Amino acid sequence: MDLQAASDDTGLTPLQRKMRKLGLSGADDFVLHLPIRYEDETRLTPIGRLLPGMWAQVEGVVTRCEVTYRPRRQLVAAIQDDTGELGLRFLNFYPSQQKQLAAGRRVRARGEARGGFFGMEMVHPRVTVADEHTPLPDRLTPVYPTTEGLPQSALRKAIANALEQADLSDTLPAWLRERYGLMAFEEAVRLLHAPPPDVATQSLVDRAHPAWLRIKFDELLAQQLSLARARAARREKRAPPLPPSDAPDSLVNRLLHTLPFALTGAQQRVRSEIAADLSKPHPMQRLLQGDVGSGKTVVAALAAAQAIDNGYQAALMAPTEILAEQHFRKLVDWLEPLSVKVAWLTGSLAPKARREAAAMIESGEAHLAVGTQALIQQHVQFARLGLSIVDEQHRFGVGQRLALRNKGGGADEFPHQLMMSATPIPRTLAMTFFADLDVSVIDELPPGRVPVITKLLSEARREEVIARIREAARTGRQVYWVCPLVEESETLELQTAVDTYEALRHALPECRVGLMHGRLPAAEKAAVMDAFKRGELDLLVATTVIEVGVDVPNASLMVIEHAERFGLAQLHQLRGRVGRGAAESVCVLLYQTPLSQVAKARLRTMHETTDGFEIARRDLELRGPGEFLGVRQSGLALMRFADLENDLEIAEQAHEAAADLMARAPDVVSAHLARWMRGREDFLKA
Ligand code: ADP
Ligand code: MG
Repeated sequence: MDLQAASDDTGLTPLQRKMRKLGLSGADDFVLHLPIRYEDETRLTPIGRLLPGMWAQVEGVVTRCEVTYRPRRQLVAAIQDDTGELGLRFLNFYPSQQKQLAAGRRVRARGEARGGFFGMEMVHPRVTVADEHTPLPDRLTPVYPTTEGLPQSALRKAIANALEQADLSDTLPAWLRERYGLMAFEEAVRLLHAPPPDVATQSLVDRAHPAWLRIKFDELLAQQLSLARARAARREKRAPPLPPSDAPDSLVNRLLHTLPFALTGAQQRVRSEIAADLSKPHPMQRLLQGDVGSGKTVVAALAAAQAIDNGYQAALMAPTEILAEQHFRKLVDWLEPLSVKVAWLTGSLAPKARREAAAMIESGEAHLAVGTQALIQQHVQFARLGLSIVDEQHRFGVGQRLALRNKGGGADEFPHQLMMSATPIPRTLAMTFFADLDVSVIDELPPGRVPVITKLLSEARREEVIARIREAARTGRQVYWVCPLVEESETLELQTAVDTYEALRHALPECRVGLMHGRLPAAEKAAVMDAFKRGELDLLVATTVIEVGVDVPNASLMVIEHAERFGLAQLHQLRGRVGRGAAESVCVLLYQTPLSQVAKARLRTMHETTDGFEIARRDLELRGPGEFLGVRQSGLALMRFADLENDLEIAEQAHEAAADLMARAPDVVSAHLARWMRGREDFLKA
């Protein structure tokens, strides 16, 4: 039993327990529990001046109060001041409310005035007893985020206490506050908890008030500092230095020599960035971004070769079996003629084959291991892992990526890590939210690629599309047909694929048609892919399992059915399966009307551009950064006050400030993180 937790909870009142639930325990927590809105109780409106629809506070003497039963049971009261009378009506009420409204009592009521049948009234107003001596508050009344059973009054009291007790001194030095024109921390929190009535209320609600800007800056700064610390911690860790060799017979040089193409300028550039990182005695943590088809695999192969030249092993992990297999074949093609031993490990291998692969990896006989998540299972031990490569990194959870990193040899030595992604993240976002990663970008496609032409066709023109497939097959071109995404049900998605396959086979009797989906046994998947690759199939009907990495240059027509259901990133990935050879390729997006505004915008984008960065930019616009990045990756889960839609500029300032503070003021860093993070830092490090 967890004694700590048990003793933590004892002695707490039920209210305190509810506060814990909101994450409120120390004084700092309460100080940073900020209002979501305010009520203005500083003024009284004369009853005679109320207008329908007006939110107001009035004060008067109760003239009557009774429970009536028509049209239903309700409490009906009236109060009066010098200017008029106001009805108060409660459809649900406690006996205590009835008592509170005893005739002759002076009360304050807050609510929305409405014009009723018998004159002005408020339905369910908030009522407090007052006498002439009860002063009006001189500050706006905060309304806090809360949870069931925790009344505002309890929160207000606890927070007011905390504001007395907590240390509100500034964590930021004056030069920094001046540089960004930041309000002092104490001033900001006091203002937010108790704004004067003449404050620009709208700017509080919109969180554009300088007090809010300070809070958001602080929060983003804490996030940036914690990323910067993670990065610094990484520099303290050791990794085997794996410098490039200039020997002409090094594996790297022989590989460069035997490749059937020359590297593009961009590939060369990122290759030397990676080569330099690998030379260092600290673990590389680099994200390699490159549009679909930009040639990331060969860059990964060269990095692996550099590790192998240094007597270390490399591992490449891919999110799906199909993709892992493609990598495996390509790497075997490139590297086995150069006497590199490549092991293959996935979950679908027979136990014996799996044991053999694991044994090769453990003995060091395998220089390179390629596979799926199976690579990070516990029983797989590497003899000398120097570099771990993760393809399509965004498809893995943080834990899986870390697990591969932890497969290094010694307890105090970590492998270098290279992550690859075809989802380009706009520069500011990358800088701000992957501050602990170094980023390399391949911003150029291999030469000779003809941009894919994208056509938007309504489902009504399906027959035309089928005729087009017939024509393509007749001239020896190969075709993908991507089946609709069925969000709700994988089974239904599968069924749809099978049905589509049958229908197309029927409609195109002269074509050789194959079917590919996620539930096929691995061997069958491989067989289908092989047949398509060798040109033994004209048409491959597939689910989105082909989204990632599939590389068949002769395929030059793709049809995506129900394209309106797919996200931009996914459409771009899918479309990237064609346009890989010299032939002009076409991607047909079949859509079903009516289209939502967003779906229209997505399809239009696909029609207008093939540039992955531009698509990412528009995707970001359509979805907003939170969704775009995925909460887990970005640490957004921790952001309570800032939001990326509006605060990117503050995020950039915080990024810059974090770098300065790390260099100039380590004690500021600690103090600031202590206030803002308190134990939640690990979350971000991953
Ligand atoms: P991605 O970045 O999407 O993973 P790949 O690594 O699969 O792209 O490369 C796409 C295709 O381009 C592959 O067939 C690959 O062999 C080829 N390729 C890579 N680099 C070059 C190059 N410099 N010149 C010509 N073809 C290249
Ligand atoms: Mg790839």
